[in-house]
Amino acid sequence: MTDPTSGDLRLTGVTKTYDAFTAVDNLDLVIPRGSFFALLGPSGCGKTTTLRMVAGLDQPTIGQIWIGDQDITDTKAYQRNVNTVFQSYALFPHLSILDNVAFGLRRRKVSDHKVKAMEALELVQLAHIAKKKPGQLSGGMQQRVALARAIVNRPDVLLLDEPLGALDLKLRRQMQIELKQIQSEVGLTFVHVTHDQEEAMTMADTIAVMNSGRLEQVGDPATLYEHPKSTFVANFLGQSNLLEATVKSRVGSTAELDVHGVKLRLPVDRLVNGASAVWLGVRPEKLRRVASGAQPAGTAGGDRPEGGGAAAPGPTRWAWAGGRGRGHHAWPHSAGRAGQPGRQPQAAQRKR
Ligand code: ADP
Ligand code: MG
Repeated sequence: MTDPTSGDLRLTGVTKTYDAFTAVDNLDLVIPRGSFFALLGPSGCGKTTTLRMVAGLDQPTIGQIWIGDQDITDTKAYQRNVNTVFQSYALFPHLSILDNVAFGLRRRKVSDHKVKAMEALELVQLAHIAKKKPGQLSGGMQQRVALARAIVNRPDVLLLDEPLGALDLKLRRQMQIELKQIQSEVGLTFVHVTHDQEEAMTMADTIAVMNSGRLEQVGDPATLYEHPKSTFVANFLGQSNLLEATVKSRVGSTAELDVHGVKLRLPVDRLVNGASAVWLGVRPEKLRRVASGAQPAGTAGGDRPEGGGAAAPGPTRWAWAGGRGRGHHAWPHSAGRAGQPGRQPQAAQRKR
């Protein structure tokens, strides 16, 4: 029989309010067991609040949290098989690295705690400094010790709250790769919170994008990038040019759009709903310049969008590249709370 407490982590209708303010709004999430799951969103969108509820440090105002078949909503934090790695390492300065990692096991009177702690240190490639004290280690090493200390407990779920935020860029990139390798090796469920889209795209099997306490979209990195469901997601993951457009007609699988006097064709499945006033999103890297009058590859054919000649002056014109409408989407003007072009791009650009 399988252990009912070990399985997918599920949040059902989870809301957290502070007085009149809603920090997390009706969150439904399934985090598959053994996956690397990223919770991505701008500062203040409710990521830490969500993690704290999973850890049992905060109680949902409404909703339930499950691990496998077990409702853990009312389970005390110390009774949950969940560990958290924070940005601050919080190691005991007077204990050796080995004793720091073995601390929890020793308290629970696990007999071979030192052997297990040593194995965890080997996993993060720090067995050779087991006798040192935290103060003798770099920030990156201390973060790896914090990770070993969490992994040694073999939690059902490991929560990581911006764990690489204090590291410099080079070390952060290196740690992103290492963390991913460690997760594949140990096979534990990792829930990694970050505001860094590149970090989420590099590491996660699945990304949940949050905005103002709500879930915008959940999917694998490629799907979120290629098929963003809202202007917010389109701008938060990479960059997207947003152009005001009007849907003029829908015939068969093709819609015709008017973009400031330029006619464009788009597969109808790229139109998010039946609205006629829309934002058209175009990924910059999917555009290329072709000579005036030339037929750009990938734009012939009725279901492919075609660039008009009015967007660029001189002997060249802009043409949509990539074929089959890749990279272009249209969302209704009313879609998303951050549906205004220019409101969110800073978040994406900052990371480039
Ligand atoms: P994130 O981790 O995504 O940056 P948080 O989950 O920490 O965001 O916070 C989400 C929102 O909830 C923020 O606006 C924050 O100010 C608010 N918040 C968090 N904790 C409390 C609290 N204890 N009391 C009141 N407001 C809070
Ligand atoms: Mg936070």
